[in-house]
Amino acid sequence: MSASTIEKVCVIGAGTMGAGIAAQVANAGVPVLLLDIVPKDGDDRDAVAKGAVAKMLGTDPAPFMSKAAARLVETGNIEDHLDRVAECDWIVEAIVERLDIKQNLYARLEKLKKPGAAVSSNTSTIPLEKLVDGRGEEFRSSFLITHFFNPPRYMRLIEIVRGPHTDAAVADGVVDFVDRKLGKRVVPTRDTPGFIANRIGTYWLAVAVNAAMDQGLTIEEADQIGGKPMGVPKTGIFGLIDLVGIDLMPLLTASLTANLPKGDPYFDTVRDQPLIERMIAEGRTGRKAGSGFYSFDKKTRTKRALDFETGEYRDPVKPQRLPPRAEGDLHALTNAPGKTGPYAWEILGKVLAYSASLVGEAADDITAIDDAMKLGYNWKYGPFELIDRLGPGRLAERLEKEGREVPAILRTAGERPFYRVQDGQRQYLGLDGEYHDVGRPEGVLLLEDIKRKTGALLKNASAALWDAGDGVAVLEFTAKMNALDGEVMKLIGKAVPLVAEKFKALVVYNEGSNFSAGANLGLAMFAVNIAAWSEIEKLIAGGQDAYKALKYAPFPVVSAPAGLALGGGCEILLHSDAVQAHAESYIGLVECGVGLVPGWGGCGEMLDRWRTMPGQPKGPMPPVTKVFEIVSTATVAKSAAEAKGYGFLRESDGVTMNRDRLLADAKAKALSLVEGYTPPEAPEFKLPGAGGKAALMLAVDGFRKRGMATPYDAVVADALAEVLTGGDADLIDTVTEADMLALEREHFMKLVRDPRTQARVESMLETGKPLRN
Ligand code: NAD
Repeated sequence: MSASTIEKVCVIGAGTMGAGIAAQVANAGVPVLLLDIVPKDGDDRDAVAKGAVAKMLGTDPAPFMSKAAARLVETGNIEDHLDRVAECDWIVEAIVERLDIKQNLYARLEKLKKPGAAVSSNTSTIPLEKLVDGRGEEFRSSFLITHFFNPPRYMRLIEIVRGPHTDAAVADGVVDFVDRKLGKRVVPTRDTPGFIANRIGTYWLAVAVNAAMDQGLTIEEADQIGGKPMGVPKTGIFGLIDLVGIDLMPLLTASLTANLPKGDPYFDTVRDQPLIERMIAEGRTGRKAGSGFYSFDKKTRTKRALDFETGEYRDPVKPQRLPPRAEGDLHALTNAPGKTGPYAWEILGKVLAYSASLVGEAADDITAIDDAMKLGYNWKYGPFELIDRLGPGRLAERLEKEGREVPAILRTAGERPFYRVQDGQRQYLGLDGEYHDVGRPEGVLLLEDIKRKTGALLKNASAALWDAGDGVAVLEFTAKMNALDGEVMKLIGKAVPLVAEKFKALVVYNEGSNFSAGANLGLAMFAVNIAAWSEIEKLIAGGQDAYKALKYAPFPVVSAPAGLALGGGCEILLHSDAVQAHAESYIGLVECGVGLVPGWGGCGEMLDRWRTMPGQPKGPMPPVTKVFEIVSTATVAKSAAEAKGYGFLRESDGVTMNRDRLLADAKAKALSLVEGYTPPEAPEFKLPGAGGKAALMLAVDGFRKRGMATPYDAVVADALAEVLTGGDADLIDTVTEADMLALEREHFMKLVRDPRTQARVESMLETGKPLRN
């Protein structure tokens, strides 16, 4: 069985997880039947599942990637429609965490499902063997656990447990589907309580909370020490618990204590928590309730912190700076004076030792544990990567000195690191004491791996060019947030002739969280502050030249965004022959938000898209109106699917669900364009000129009167309207691409000199938020 043999899915249980899983299946373009119980009241027997879909349509961040995806979900109930599981190739159970209820459901499914159709449970805690107890041979061979994380669209981890009777082909089919279609990174997990991520994650949180209270730290101090230096997300520990929900903690504790083997270190963390019990009783359950360990006042936008002594909130107190070196050096951190060292050691000593003890028990090897924590808890480093940073020998030595058990794998490691690079290949230390290659699923190609094996063909401070094999070169952005600047443009200038000479195609791709946040505004502001207008104009003209060089290069260019592709990042996509986008791409021309107009050819490219888009009304005005609407409001598409609706992507552009497969897919797309490739012809426009502009501005005026646009929004919109309608063009004139670029430059330069634009840019740089002046 492979991904393509799963053509229809049934999800049973339309709660938090089931509904989210159904949405992600639909996001993959696969029809899904979502069933839940018949409600006690009301006439609509499908109301529970229907209500779940309706709720998701109003949820932000959205579980659905598009409205079309939502239409792929059919709803029903388990009394009238359970027999329809016979239509499905994979049945996902995501109902309440009760063994008897789950077993009951399986007994019914066993009689109804297609032979060979996979059945999986999303259980967090119940062992597989118990779940299939009483079921026949066929059911057992079709059964596995697929443990998704919440929210299923956005969390990349899935833990998969196969039972001793699970048929390999059935499980492989599900694994292939969740990998390629649902975009998850599969971590194979053994049938142990809490699997990997929640087992370590819950222990980590318990240790950190207990120690903060025992050692007399404030919340801010604990989040400072236990946060960034350990590679924990910005939320810190207490911020994370607020996010997950404090009321979930006792549930996790109860399930783990009921299931973990006697003597597990987790039991030592379990104790009465009067303060936490009180908070839950008072409804202070975290972010969803407005207060938890931190309280957040939306009106005044102020954050306050819990005082452990009083249980009340107080103004935040910025902790003292960490001692020198402690920020980036875990050895220095765990040995730092004052509160820092003891707290850091309490967490790392315990959590890293616990993680090490689970190799061979919950996971086959260290890579599964590192992947689980990085993807399930958003840690920057997995436990074994943290041990390497601390020093495996040092960790073992200190545990030994304190009379604590030293896990077997730590003894095996001795002074050796858990990871090493040998001949460009990353390797991990196995339980057998040997190093093994870190494997990648078949077909996965990562720039990270290419970089270990070869040097860059070209490289400067903001970009690099790599050889991705098979005649394909990769252009990588490398600055902070992959911002675009003159260096990027210079590198493109050098890359085009090199690729033309030595390669067949170019892929624009990188492995940052964001493809590109757009032009480097900090640099632009620096030039503004010293009134270096000619430098700014040079940057705009240089960018236009570089982007057109990509567009008219004698080889195909495929861009492969993931995360943000904004402003100049979006314009790169618009100039590519094709795009292979990660499904989670957030694309937009946001220049108007900072008081500018797109200046690297975005206006002309968008116009060209809309006027040639099938099914759109003809004539000069409709495309202008469309692009004006999209660009003047700084619209950002919240998925690749949505980006197609705005014309940022073409219908023919590819979408890759799994981030790890993006480069391979983009490379294949680029190679598919090589044969008979000819660069596009430059467009020529007929634009509506002043009359068209007046019509656009009438609409803006309406927005302004209704308070939906600020006075300066109208000024910026005016400049955009001028560009898009062709300036003083007349309907009979032909506006060339070069004319459009000149108009962009002119209006960009006019706006950038305006102090109100400068105020917007400064605000964006300082707060990351647009200023509505
Ligand atoms: P939930 O309470 O939000 O939803 C459970 C749903 O199951 C409800 O809509 C309920 O009406 C329905 N249900 C109950 N009995 C049913 C039956 N016999 N047939 C059909 N539907 C039935 O729960 P959840 O958080 O979505 O959890 C579902 C499963 O996923 C559990 O096994 C849980 O352990 C697991 N899980 C939860 C999370 C999480 O973060 N919430 C994460 C991973 C796994």
